[in-house]
Amino acid sequence: MKFLYNTVWLFCLLFTLFACQQTTIKLNNAEKNQTINQDSSRVLQGKCYTSYCIEIIDNESTIEVMLDVTDYIATSLVLDFVVTGLISAETLPITVFMDTPQKMIINTFTKTGSWSINYNSISNVGALGVTHNNSILYQLPFAIGSTKKVSQGYNGQRTHQNVNAIDFNLDEGTEIFVMRAGRVVKIEQQFNEGGFDDNFKFKANYVQILHDDLTLAKYVHLKLNGVVVQHGQLVQAGDLIGYSGNTGYSSGPHLHISVSALDTINKSLTFQTIFKTASNLDGEILEEGKSYTAID
Ligand SMILES: [Zn+2]
Repeated sequence: MKFLYNTVWLFCLLFTLFACQQTTIKLNNAEKNQTINQDSSRVLQGKCYTSYCIEIIDNESTIEVMLDVTDYIATSLVLDFVVTGLISAETLPITVFMDTPQKMIINTFTKTGSWSINYNSISNVGALGVTHNNSILYQLPFAIGSTKKVSQGYNGQRTHQNVNAIDFNLDEGTEIFVMRAGRVVKIEQQFNEGGFDDNFKFKANYVQILHDDLTLAKYVHLKLNGVVVQHGQLVQAGDLIGYSGNTGYSSGPHLHISVSALDTINKSLTFQTIFKTASNLDGEILEEGKSYTAID
């Protein structure tokens, strides 16, 4: 079997949260070294990633592309194919958003003679074509009744240029609460160091929560082993997530939050959101330098 594998990592945004992965796989029918499935179809090639596998299956008259998502994630996948002797059932490239565990055939090619198939895949965290639900009122991510300062706001000059993210000044160990209901799709909590230095850019602890409009909330810089929710868990606004820290690319103890999706497969899109605060029950856009008191 002819097999070419090439992975390119592109780091697209600050912190550890956002990575694009590109893979190229080439196959043809010149060599026959396939495994046999239960249904007698042959898996020509499979490539597994952390939470999903792509399989190319030879079914005599067709080639099927199977996607097996094995965990709760929030990842877009763009698959493009270069083929000879095959007719695609779907318009190419194929874009799939993977969120729940499932197995699905995402494309079928019909053989017309001697054939070959090459594919490129690019994946990235977040959903494409998303519109944020602006009618949602977010809850401040710290304890009801406590007051915290926004140390850096949307498009902040220090590290939020062109990014809609908020930093709250929080002492290490401060309880962090869910801002909006969703499902926990990614957790990191193994790191125990941070600083305002490139060496720490990929050493942040965090929790990512997927909302029902497919936007993704990120809670970053949590302390070592400071996460109390489980991967895949459904959470409600006000649930305890874990404890703040100073891990990753960070100049001091704080919580960094953002709500995002993808503009393109390689480019993130972040949203400003409305928070209910003790001083504005109808909600407001948070501003840098101001302090806010959490209400439920
Ligand atoms: Zn930040």
